[in-house]
Amino acid sequence: MSTYHPAMASNFRHAWFQSMLRLGAWLLAWLLPGLVLGAVWPALAAGLGLALAWQYYNWARLLRQLRSRRHLQEPERGGVQGEVAALIYSRQRYQRRRWHRLHQALRAFRTAANALPDGIVVLGPELGIRWFNPAAGELLGLSARDLGIHLPALLRAPQFAEWLDRGAADPLFDLASPATPARRLWLRLIDYAGRHRLLVVRDVSKLMQLEQVRRDFVANVSHELRTPLTVIHGYLELIEPGPDTEWSGPIAEMRRQSQRMTRLVEDLLTLSRLEGQDRLPDEPVPMATLLATLLREAQTLSAGQHLIAVVDPAGCDLHGAEAELHSAFANLVANAVRYTPAGGQITIRFRDDPGGGVRLEVEDSGPGIAAEHIDRLTERFYRVSTSRSRATGGTGLGLAIVKHVLLLHQARLDIDSEPGRGSCFSCVFPAERRIERQSDPFN
Ligand code: ADP
Repeated sequence: MSTYHPAMASNFRHAWFQSMLRLGAWLLAWLLPGLVLGAVWPALAAGLGLALAWQYYNWARLLRQLRSRRHLQEPERGGVQGEVAALIYSRQRYQRRRWHRLHQALRAFRTAANALPDGIVVLGPELGIRWFNPAAGELLGLSARDLGIHLPALLRAPQFAEWLDRGAADPLFDLASPATPARRLWLRLIDYAGRHRLLVVRDVSKLMQLEQVRRDFVANVSHELRTPLTVIHGYLELIEPGPDTEWSGPIAEMRRQSQRMTRLVEDLLTLSRLEGQDRLPDEPVPMATLLATLLREAQTLSAGQHLIAVVDPAGCDLHGAEAELHSAFANLVANAVRYTPAGGQITIRFRDDPGGGVRLEVEDSGPGIAAEHIDRLTERFYRVSTSRSRATGGTGLGLAIVKHVLLLHQARLDIDSEPGRGSCFSCVFPAERRIERQSDPFN
């Protein structure tokens, strides 16, 4: 609308000529009586004065209308003044239509956002609440009074504050609703238009309930299986068929299978116990002792078939849950021994992480893992080769347990592997988890 158009220039030229013609005609009308009365100059001065007064009156009227923000009536075209009024009128009409369209679009967006079952909160750069839909009001307990308030000041849950401190890149799962604590929420923060944020809130109570039912079911079944398995295993241990009887083979197989089932049940119970916990009791974990234990366990499992070394340049201890960390590291070490062929090399390394934390690595010279499997290894029962896993006594739950233990320590599992080149499984702990070493049994 504001762009220059050649037609506009020609309109204005035409209007200017029209104005000049009108003024000329008006002055001519005053010139004739002036000639008749012999007072040409006074007559022309009077005509000019009246013309000027009329112009000022019209400009003043237009100005008054604009200042009172009234919409102009469609003006009569003619002269410069008429053209200016017509231009302002057409701009006003365009702005009105545009405003109307925007208003309708905004109404449509708001109606759609209000109909969403998910909560939406529009946040300003400093996380001040700008707008929210009714679902967000209900889930987060917000009311119109809260507009403009800093959101973290309203949601005082430490979990929420920690999530924001971490940058809120991933969604926050399972936050108790401030309005109804029995409701569990899923939150996601999305950046838009520079430093503005959109908070999406979803009620996941039903999902959490289902998850809880699943966890309880697995835990209960595993628990119920434990006693019968112990009995079967006990009796199988007691049966001693002579080496030559036809039963020696089947009984040895039954023992192996019952041991496997016991391990499976124990791993399932460990997993469901870990899943049901938000955090573990933290204590100083003496890493030198733990590394010595891991070396002993690896040597026992390997029975002299591998070259096993421990390297410990980090020289610090960890702050965490000792039993769970031991179980996670032992799982990695056991995998290295089980999957690396005899004669292979295994290194357990505890060293500084370039990111400021510390890492425990278990490196082997085994068969390695193809890239397409690596992302899925921590899924329950995911195996690259089921037969190899079973043959070596695997349950398919080891790495899932490792992942859960690390999550509870705000640590991550990095897997670096290539077929034919061996694997390196690293538990990477944040700097807050490292503490000064308290004792070293080797020194
Ligand atoms: P499993 O009891 O089958 O070993 P895990 O969860 O411990 O279950 O490991 C999942 C899968 O990852 C294994 O089945 C195996 O295919 C692969 N894997 C784990 N560790 C190694 C390793 N050190 N070298 C090669 N493959 C490995």
